[in-house]
Amino acid sequence: MREVKNKHIVVIGAARSGVAAALLLHKKGADVFVSDYGMITEEAKQKFNVAGIPYEENGHSEKAKSGEFIVLSPGVPTESLIVQNYLNNGKEVFAEIEVASWFTNQNIIAVTGSNGKTTVANWLDHLWKTANRDHALAGNIGVAFSDEIETNKGDFILEVSSFQLDHIKNFRPTVSVILNITPDHLNRYGNSLEAYAASKFRITENQTADDWFIFNYDDPIIKKHVETLKQKQTAPRLWAFSNENEVSEGAFVRNNHIIFKFNNKEETLMPVEEIGLRGRHNLSNGLATALAARAAEIKNEAIRESLRSFTGVEHRLELAREVDGVKYINDSKATNVNAVWFALDSFHVPVTLILGGRDKGNDYSELEPQIREKVHTIIAIGESKERVEAQLGKAAPNFVKVETMGGAVRAAQKVAKRGEVVLLSPACASFDMFDSYEHRGKIFKEEVDKL
Ligand code: ADP
Repeated sequence: MREVKNKHIVVIGAARSGVAAALLLHKKGADVFVSDYGMITEEAKQKFNVAGIPYEENGHSEKAKSGEFIVLSPGVPTESLIVQNYLNNGKEVFAEIEVASWFTNQNIIAVTGSNGKTTVANWLDHLWKTANRDHALAGNIGVAFSDEIETNKGDFILEVSSFQLDHIKNFRPTVSVILNITPDHLNRYGNSLEAYAASKFRITENQTADDWFIFNYDDPIIKKHVETLKQKQTAPRLWAFSNENEVSEGAFVRNNHIIFKFNNKEETLMPVEEIGLRGRHNLSNGLATALAARAAEIKNEAIRESLRSFTGVEHRLELAREVDGVKYINDSKATNVNAVWFALDSFHVPVTLILGGRDKGNDYSELEPQIREKVHTIIAIGESKERVEAQLGKAAPNFVKVETMGGAVRAAQKVAKRGEVVLLSPACASFDMFDSYEHRGKIFKEEVDKL
């Protein structure tokens, strides 16, 4: 716990987590000032006005530079002038999750990774509900951690991004989880995968032998960092999960059953096929979820029930509708190549793949083996369709370029046969044609409903 009473604290950025941090710090007696480089929404302004928190927008004044420390919204880059100003003056820069963590002693279960964070955080939420355990789901996910501090009396389940981990100091989860580390957002880490991985591993930085770290044993980058972590005297308990190998402590698969292994004792949890979500990646996600629950001393019975009954999160391999025996799958949240790889890996029937959007420097050719095996038609949309064509134009028997989502869905209907799958899994950001990936997924579903 850190004393903030009467301290002058500046919050940079009035997006959701900035607003929440400002309100929390104000409640705790701090003298808070909010400063945003851009515009502040009316909704946020109203909250500040009601609480009596001063703010400024469209730039940072001298007042924004006078805080004892700043609290940073995850959207603000470390390179920005205001952050550099604080760092150069020897002042501290904190993430919102760091600040919120000062005000609770409850268990924190924190999940990070390149892909699957939202799925696992929601799965944990579902599992905690199944077990009837008091908790709040927060973080990078709709509700900020700071929003829940005053009301939640149970565990905190947090989805945590590496941007937030870049600015922690004492943040210490009871259970931390790293799902995978693949190239994404490298532009914010000087194009260094090492720097990005190190940032994710900060989730374990303040953990002790009383805590748990749950990690993906099948991920070579994670495995390498775990070797270093093991050397640390204060290392947390290390529980691994793997689809491919038997691990000495954690969860793995043998003869199509999930096995838990702790202190050299094995327990058979359940058959893999009973898991409610499809795909190898969701087996990994399920194993991670199960281990986190086990660390929190939730009974195997509740773990089993949740692994069976969780139906997933919207826009992640979500079944939109079945028309004439063809399943239309909305995976709009697949905004990088790795997510599409796992999406394709989940299907064992012929696929019509809708791909494209705002390109982030993707190497689509990583998908080629899977496409050759199961995709008969690629339908390219959005800004990147020429680039997709250049890299994958010959990977499938048919390649079609279209201008709209409606055009993509209708083109898919023409070629997909009974028993097959039409998959929207774009590998790209959505901002070329849509407001967000949610918007893209919604339009896809609306177009599918029109068929
Ligand atoms: P995040 O919150 O990390 O972005 P999501 O759960 O929203 O992750 O999933 C993003 C995309 O990645 C979806 O297309 C989803 O199907 C896919 N995905 C989910 N879990 C994994 C995983 N463990 N490995 C690879 N891809 C995954």
